[in-house]
Amino acid sequence: MTVTRDDALRELEALVGAARVRRDAPSLAAAGGDQTENEPAWPDAVVDVATRDELVAVVKLAARAAVPLVPRVAGTNLGGLTIPGRGGWVLDLTRMNRIVELHVEDMVAVLEPGVSFAQLKQALDEQQTGLTIGFPLAPPEVSVVANCLLDGLGNLSLRHSAMGEWISGLEVIRADGTLLRTGAMALGVPVPFARAPLPDLSGLFVSLQGATGLVSRAAIQLWPAPAFRERSFVFVFDRAALCPALGALARLDVLDDLGALSWPTGKLLLGVIVFGLLAYALWRLFQGLLDPENEGTDAKGIAKTARDEIRMARDKKRVVRTPEDEQMEKLYREQVLNQKPAAEPQAAKPAVVQIEV
Ligand SMILES: Cc1cc2nc3c(=O)[nH]c(=O)nc-3n(C[C@H](O)[C@H](O)[C@H](O)COP(=O)(O)OP(=O)(O)OC[C@H]3O[C@@H](n4cnc5c(N)ncnc54)[C@H](O)[C@@H]3O)c2cc1C
Repeated sequence: MTVTRDDALRELEALVGAARVRRDAPSLAAAGGDQTENEPAWPDAVVDVATRDELVAVVKLAARAAVPLVPRVAGTNLGGLTIPGRGGWVLDLTRMNRIVELHVEDMVAVLEPGVSFAQLKQALDEQQTGLTIGFPLAPPEVSVVANCLLDGLGNLSLRHSAMGEWISGLEVIRADGTLLRTGAMALGVPVPFARAPLPDLSGLFVSLQGATGLVSRAAIQLWPAPAFRERSFVFVFDRAALCPALGALARLDVLDDLGALSWPTGKLLLGVIVFGLLAYALWRLFQGLLDPENEGTDAKGIAKTARDEIRMARDKKRVVRTPEDEQMEKLYREQVLNQKPAAEPQAAKPAVVQIEV
């Protein structure tokens, strides 16, 4: 039975909870555009999907009401790919962020689409796996699975190819809500590390931007983290010589990554960094001016800094000054600062000064 889009929205709210069907203007505007020059378009709703079962149910409901779906994680693709040109529901998959399996020995991870590069790196580092995933130049919160599905390029791509090649299996929800498993995930093996021996259908979902199905899990190849890493910057002033030089360097088979920036792009990046630093400095300045409790150069700020230092000293309970320290300070005052020696104190100073506040 088909349902209208309005009915479907009500069903959707019952399905995932009204709070996870966002229809406020800021949410719709944020999901409707991206960083490209493509025209933004507003979706009917942004749905925060948390589990595979929810995703299946949402896809089935959308199929009944003929609502277009746009899967999205960080939305940083540079092709206008998550702009909902025909309206419908943008599926925000950031909550589907489980590292479902991590097979260190076999160097493969099964990930939900919301797992970011930062999250996976943290997990690999914390567990001291000695493995890495490689990283695109993109912000760290972008999705590993989305990058693989886009056949993206990262800092290991020169050595290990584009990231679409690293997929060893997929679990996909098709437009009617049925599940399909490809590659190693179709075999039901305990460790999904190889696409063979079945014909591998994973390619049907790579570089198709969700048009052929929504990926709920992906098995992705990991790599040994390099024991040694060094970065070099080279300035080339002959643009015509650059491409052959890059090709020759790439074929040396010693580099993990190789890239070139034109001077206008370099200037742009430099501008972004300088602007960022300036903005930060201004922010700190205004923070100091607006908030009298903050450190600053006015009397209140100085008093607060002094108070903090005294508190810190009190927390340490005592400040140790040896007789050698006293002697050094005396010499410094007399010989460097040309100060007259202070009158000898009546009573001998203690070597340990107790600070009471
Ligand atoms: C400054 C900058 C630098 C970048 N550098 C690089 C780079 O070096 N290399 C590179 O490859 N890319 C780069 N990118 C592009 C982009 O950031 C990456 O490709 C990133 O991995 C995309 O992830 P995302 O979470 O933003 O995906 P999104 O933009 O949210 O989605 C990407 C695509 O995948 C689809 N999709 C999302 N989830 C699913 C799913 N579960 N099932 C099916 N389809 C899905 C979306 O509909 C969309 O078509 C860069 C972007 C920026 C802004």
